[in-house]
Amino acid sequence: MKPSKNTETVAEHYGKLLGLEEPWEVKSAQLDLLRGRVEIEVEWRKDAGVACPECGQPGVRHDHAPEREWRHVNVMQFTSVIRARVPRCRCVTHGVKTVRTSWAEPGSHFTLHFEAFAVKLIGACRSLTQVAELLELDWDGVQRLVDRAVARGLARRTLADIRYVGLDEKSFLRGQSYVSVMNDVKGARVLEVTLGRDQAAGEALWQAIPEATRLNVEAAAMDMSGSYVAATHAQAPQAAIVHDKFHISKMFNEAIDQTRRAEHVRLQAKGDDTLKGTRYQWLHGVVPERKQAGFAELLEINLQTAKAWCYKEQFIEFWAQPNAAMGEDFFAKWFRSVSSTRLTKVKAVAQTLKRHLTNILTYFVHPITNAISEGFNSKIQSIKSDARGFRSFKHYRSRILFHCGKLDLAPILPSLAASGLTH
Ligand SMILES: [Zn+2]
Repeated sequence: MKPSKNTETVAEHYGKLLGLEEPWEVKSAQLDLLRGRVEIEVEWRKDAGVACPECGQPGVRHDHAPEREWRHVNVMQFTSVIRARVPRCRCVTHGVKTVRTSWAEPGSHFTLHFEAFAVKLIGACRSLTQVAELLELDWDGVQRLVDRAVARGLARRTLADIRYVGLDEKSFLRGQSYVSVMNDVKGARVLEVTLGRDQAAGEALWQAIPEATRLNVEAAAMDMSGSYVAATHAQAPQAAIVHDKFHISKMFNEAIDQTRRAEHVRLQAKGDDTLKGTRYQWLHGVVPERKQAGFAELLEINLQTAKAWCYKEQFIEFWAQPNAAMGEDFFAKWFRSVSSTRLTKVKAVAQTLKRHLTNILTYFVHPITNAISEGFNSKIQSIKSDARGFRSFKHYRSRILFHCGKLDLAPILPSLAASGLTH
């Protein structure tokens, strides 16, 4: 765009598009065809006063900060940037401070419009690499946009009405690395993520929510491992512990799988292949239709695995009992029945359940589960598989909160009214 009699109109046009506030004005808008860039130079009107960004009191214009650049949303196919030297104000109370710009948040290299667009794009894309390509940024640049969006969302988040939470572990990186996650059960959102799965990690989860909220939580769903129980006793002693059915059904499945494997080895030694290829039929809640006849036959044979499976199936009725007293009765009968068998693995589960029965019966008062946490698994899995640059816990936490935290992530854009576009 060569300077012409149109320049002023173009500058004004950009000023409106950017939502520039007085006394900022567009000095020039240059199109660099070779680099495929639109550069918009913005300046603070020379005769305008300055106010301290800390207290709002008028101050003296001290000098200008060195020229900076902010990435803006593309104009057609052109990368667009805003350049400006921002005035610095000298305040009697706060000293020399850089005046705030209306188009970007302090410390950001991006305009508000760019960040708002990026938030939408990151939310829609499965991988950061893809976002990086679309925005023509490097991976770290996109991660910074994620971090800033999450910080914004956390600052705006309200946690007043949380009655039920779930604590759960998720694997992190390859191998034996874990993070702990706290979920808002009713709100179906992740509240916090901490590194590790010990008591300290559990306590850090609790500490991440304000004390008033924490001490208002009525119940927390968790596994029976003990770390989260200890963490909850320490940080939210009023909260009832609920060992939820998802974790319990996982224990049953492991016991059945071990029973099947051991039995399969015994049978094979006698040349009997009955249990071959049956693993998933025992583990799945629903046996696929084409396998139902075969599965029914398996149940007819006098198999240890089939017996173990029956005890698991019987236990489903436990959760349907109308109250804790009936639940306790049901459990006592079921436990006696299991104890009379030689199913060592299922008996071990029964013993564990008996030891923790008090905190299992709480389910009848607070019928909560970690189902929400299971629901997040596929989302978290896709974050995990986006492996590039995914070394640090900080990034992992940030991205889980971005996608599963139900946060209000976008910056507040300058209103159209302020920009004069509605005139
Ligand atoms: Zn001041």
